[in-house]
Amino acid sequence: MSIALWGCFVIDENVALARFTTIGTGGPARWFARPESIDELQDALRWAAEKNVAVEVVGLGSNLLVHDAGVDALVLKLAGELATAAVEGETLVMGGGAPNAVGLHRARAAGLGGFEFASAIPGTGGGGVRMNAGAYGREFKDVLIDATVVDADSVRTLTPEELDLSYRHSGLAQGAVVAGLRVGLEPSEPQAVKLIAAELLARRKATQPTNKRTFGSVFKNPPGDRGAGRLIEECGLKGHQIGGALISPRHANFIENAGEATTADCIALMAEARRRVHDQFGVTLEHEVQFLGPLELPPL
Ligand SMILES: Cc1cc2nc3c(=O)[nH]c(=O)nc-3n(C[C@H](O)[C@H](O)[C@H](O)COP(=O)(O)OP(=O)(O)OC[C@H]3O[C@@H](n4cnc5c(N)ncnc54)[C@H](O)[C@@H]3O)c2cc1C
Repeated sequence: MSIALWGCFVIDENVALARFTTIGTGGPARWFARPESIDELQDALRWAAEKNVAVEVVGLGSNLLVHDAGVDALVLKLAGELATAAVEGETLVMGGGAPNAVGLHRARAAGLGGFEFASAIPGTGGGGVRMNAGAYGREFKDVLIDATVVDADSVRTLTPEELDLSYRHSGLAQGAVVAGLRVGLEPSEPQAVKLIAAELLARRKATQPTNKRTFGSVFKNPPGDRGAGRLIEECGLKGHQIGGALISPRHANFIENAGEATTADCIALMAEARRRVHDQFGVTLEHEVQFLGPLELPPL
């Protein structure tokens, strides 16, 4: 069933979400819409507020686990003008739903550098802000000028400080949507941008399972000199499999969908890795992957 809010903008019911995630697991969204402008986005948010329906956002689903039974919420996927990128002077202007790859392409074509780190992060600008995603020593907070954050009642422009960005964390409220962002860049030769991005991607491919279905880092790196992957590997868990979910033989902080994985398989594997690391090293791992639906890891 679809509900037409007006004209051609519709809210659909029971839309499968697995195809909107890079791991490819999970059930349907109770409600689903693709707003293409801030007006459409606010109308969808107001509809949800009136109906007392929770709101969730999916970007490229590259750090996302969706409950197998689905999500009792309005799930938004930004589209249209909210998923484009353009350059204005030395500023990259991205819709919250614009893929980082598109942003980088626009920046390179305009002779702007500084966003190359995002070539290794297969998400959107909005997901990058929400996660303060980062790679190779740079994070979104280092290049972000501000983000346009929309909820049912307001459209606000927030700086990185106001967004409270830190390691894989933002202070964005539940249901707040990053509709757009401005990224401050510097002049650079397009060929130099291309070379840096290619080098970062090559480094990535040498150490991570980039050709498998994964959701990126499972856990945040704990304080100290050993990352989450190293700790899981030292527990002997590389290649450990539950159902269709496999701890990557290439990098232990990745879970691969080895076939017909379910989200429950991924959660069981995460719980096992977390328990083993806690028992062996006394370290409590915190999940980096975001949960949609009533998912949680068992207490230690
Ligand atoms: C192979 C691989 C490599 C990766 N490497 C890295 C890496 O080096 N560094 C790194 O930081 N991450 C990495 N990731 C994880 C992931 O790409 C990042 O976290 C990315 O920023 C997520 O963006 P997304 O658009 O896919 O968000 P999603 O995965 O769709 O969502 C992630 C979270 O952001 C929220 N969200 C998404 N869009 C919006 C929006 N517009 N407004 C508000 N909230 C929103 C979602 O609700 C969810 O809570 C990797 C993932 C993969 C699969």
